[in-house]
Amino acid sequence: GLKIGVLALQGDVREHLKALADCGATAVSVRRPSELAAVDGLIIPGGESTTMDKLSRIFGLREPLRERIQAGLPVYGSCAGMILLANEIADPATDLAGNPQQTLGGLDITVRRNAFGRQVDSFETELDFTALAPAVQAETPMHAVFIRAPWVERVGAGVQVLASVKLPEAGQNDRIDFEVRAVAVRSRHLLATSFHPEVTGERRIHELFIRMIRGEA
Ligand code: GLN
Repeated sequence: GLKIGVLALQGDVREHLKALADCGATAVSVRRPSELAAVDGLIIPGGESTTMDKLSRIFGLREPLRERIQAGLPVYGSCAGMILLANEIADPATDLAGNPQQTLGGLDITVRRNAFGRQVDSFETELDFTALAPAVQAETPMHAVFIRAPWVERVGAGVQVLASVKLPEAGQNDRIDFEVRAVAVRSRHLLATSFHPEVTGERRIHELFIRMIRGEA
């Protein structure tokens, strides 16, 4: 059967292991290159992307991760995991020596970290996911939790937007305009969400990911 890893350097690893188990998948933590080599798919959890970036080097996982992603390993990143999969960060954090944080890359998107602003750094909303049908049941909207979440500012060719949020913006002449920001994207074997389906009992994103690994979606 399939074995799906959850990158266990930092972040909400347990919630993803539980979500995978709820979907009937065999789920394991991945902390070493040998553990990475043994999985058919990988989840990069939510947490703090700068910490995961640093720990991936310390644990000797950065190059093995980049190689497997480039070789086609199915990977799903939630929140900080989305940042790590992005080819580009609009506003990377820098360390004390002034070095910008790095990503693993693979997904041709530009993300902005903590994008929804300090006032509303965490919020919940319902997302229309009809783009997911028929791979998963998509008639019921998805309740999505955003925690200091990134949004996707640019999508490259071949990146499919699966869900977006509408943000009210002050328009001209007191009009309210709406800006649309992508919060779930897919490109071939790579899937990323700004939000955390693993914390709400929502299982459709994990189901979709398992189908991607099986080559069914
Ligand atoms: N703001 C975090 C980061 O930049 C992501 C937050 C999260 O994963 N909930 O890594």
